[in-house]
Amino acid sequence: MTVHGVMGPIDVSELGQTLIHEHVATADWSMRMAFGDQYYEHDVVLEKAVEQFNRAKACGIRTVVDGTPVNMGRDIALIREVAERTGLNFIVSSGFYYQDEVYLNWRTEDEIYALISGECRDGIGKTGVRPGIMKTACADAGITPILDKVFRAIGRVAVEQRLPIFSHHHAHLGNGDEIMDLFESVGVAPHQVVLGHSGDTDNTDYLERMLERGCYLGMDRFGYCDVGLGLKDRVRIIAELCTRGYGDRLLLSHDLAAYFAVFGSWDDFKADRLPVGADFTFIHTEVLPALEAAGVDPVQVAAMIERNPIDFLDVR
Ligand SMILES: [Zn+2]
Repeated sequence: MTVHGVMGPIDVSELGQTLIHEHVATADWSMRMAFGDQYYEHDVVLEKAVEQFNRAKACGIRTVVDGTPVNMGRDIALIREVAERTGLNFIVSSGFYYQDEVYLNWRTEDEIYALISGECRDGIGKTGVRPGIMKTACADAGITPILDKVFRAIGRVAVEQRLPIFSHHHAHLGNGDEIMDLFESVGVAPHQVVLGHSGDTDNTDYLERMLERGCYLGMDRFGYCDVGLGLKDRVRIIAELCTRGYGDRLLLSHDLAAYFAVFGSWDDFKADRLPVGADFTFIHTEVLPALEAAGVDPVQVAAMIERNPIDFLDVR
């Protein structure tokens, strides 16, 4: 069995330790075209990304899933260069972030479906690269009429292409049921879906209810322990879910980007004045030891960074 990587098919036996949700860069193309090197310089981003992902590789990571959708500045050529330079497997996404884009507003579900299924079948643009995962997102406004079309279209593609779906969601709003209902209505199997950013809430009963539906949970924002829920709380919640028997459906990641160009300035980025302290090694240096210290079986801890993401990506 293989999954689609940015350099071609990857046998699942080659995936190894996997970060399920990161970004090389989220740098909007319109901003890049409008503001040039006030916003983005390719060579600088490339060098920093290579250096940062090489540090993750030194910890044992072999595969990175880049969760950047079409309308967050997805840059296949950049990701491919980072894959070539680091030797890591990169898997790229197809789909849309949650903002209500005008070009989605005036398209039907079938037209959106045609665009997404086309790049899954024939490759993204002229790169020939096929996405290995679908991306959807909803936030504080929930499933808007535009997102309803997007979720259905992407769900249909996921069913036909046997691809997993990463759905960004705001766990504190508890709209996982709405997301899962929508996907199931177009035939998506629960185990094809990871409810992303589930680790941002401490409502374990909500999380257990979602797990009972059969999906995976993304405990995937360990890059933001100093601005959201702290490391101790995130680890405690995972330990609790493992005690309740769900350790095989939890996925760990940071949700960091080598260049996350949605806030701050390009000058700050170039000078390494970063908004968060963590990098792509935080799971290995802090999270895995903390999970073991919290009493989670070491075999289960290891599975969360390798077996679980492989099972999720290898849709059957
Ligand atoms: Zn993300």
